Amino acid sequence: MRWLASELHTHTLHSDGRQSLRELAAGAAKLGFDCIALTDHNTMSGLGECEQVQQETGIVIIPGMEWTTFYGHMVTMGLQNFVDWRKAGRSDIHEGISMVHGQGGLAGMAHPFRIGSPVCTGCYWEYEIRDWNDLDYIEVWSGTFASVKPENQRAFALWTERLNAGIRIAATSGRDWHEQKHTDEPLSVTYLGLDDEPGTIAQQAVRALAQGRASVTIGPVVTMEAESGGTLYGIGESVSVQNGADLIHLHVKIDFSVRQTLWELPEQDFSLKITGNSGTLAQCAAGSTDQIYEFSIPADGHIWARAELWGIVKGMRTMIAFTNAIYIS
Ligand SMILES: [Zn+2]
Ligand SMILES: [Zn+2]
Repeated sequence: MRWLASELHTHTLHSDGRQSLRELAAGAAKLGFDCIALTDHNTMSGLGECEQVQQETGIVIIPGMEWTTFYGHMVTMGLQNFVDWRKAGRSDIHEGISMVHGQGGLAGMAHPFRIGSPVCTGCYWEYEIRDWNDLDYIEVWSGTFASVKPENQRAFALWTERLNAGIRIAATSGRDWHEQKHTDEPLSVTYLGLDDEPGTIAQQAVRALAQGRASVTIGPVVTMEAESGGTLYGIGESVSVQNGADLIHLHVKIDFSVRQTLWELPEQDFSLKITGNSGTLAQCAAGSTDQIYEFSIPADGHIWARAELWGIVKGMRTMIAFTNAIYIS
């Protein structure tokens, strides 16, 4: 499977960014990305030169928009047409989400716990969510060196709580990238697993996220497959278990070859964990070379599992990478 290195939250001069789409895409190419979602605030006017910029830079551009309102910011992507955000009140975001879905798009919570007004109008999510199945994803890592920021740790915990409640929802990263400026802080990448179905790469990328085929990292990419009863299941899929006593075998791969020379981690023993609804299910030490690690977990009582890579970054112990969930039913 091809994993597309994606930056899913960006802005240009068409909202409050300080870069054209061409500068944004060229900058993304230099940073080793394959794909960006353009998510300007409340407008899609920045996509005028999309085709040409894709051709010039080789970067796949997913059309999107960040709903920027008093009650929260909602990132959308894969839209065929502009969707009007102006009517969304605090209690009717579900109508907005269904309009986004009606245009072929996905809807995600942007930086849900970022400090809100008066510092950043509407940045803190206050919309009432009556049915979490409606929302496609949560941007759990926002900004640079995202994993160490308390607001992102709250977003990550919210995602875990939703998974524990039986909701199938994806998790992404987004730099909320406004300008071409160098940073020494680690950049997060959301890798989207493309299928071989028809459509453009942008359409395949949107479908990957819709199906939860995503893995987020500031370094190596971690992917996982589950095997039960002789059948293999990928990230985002649901393992169907015949017998509660069965074991599910997990094959977790760490690939250090991605975006080579564009990130660096100190030499160390990493820690690879399998997490699920009952907490940490398994863990082992992991080295700095490409390898596949095998785990077996009992099917009984488990409804989801993800892999997490932990280690020391800039002197702090933190999560380095995580897969989206594999579900168990
Ligand atoms: Zn925002
Ligand atoms: Zn934004």
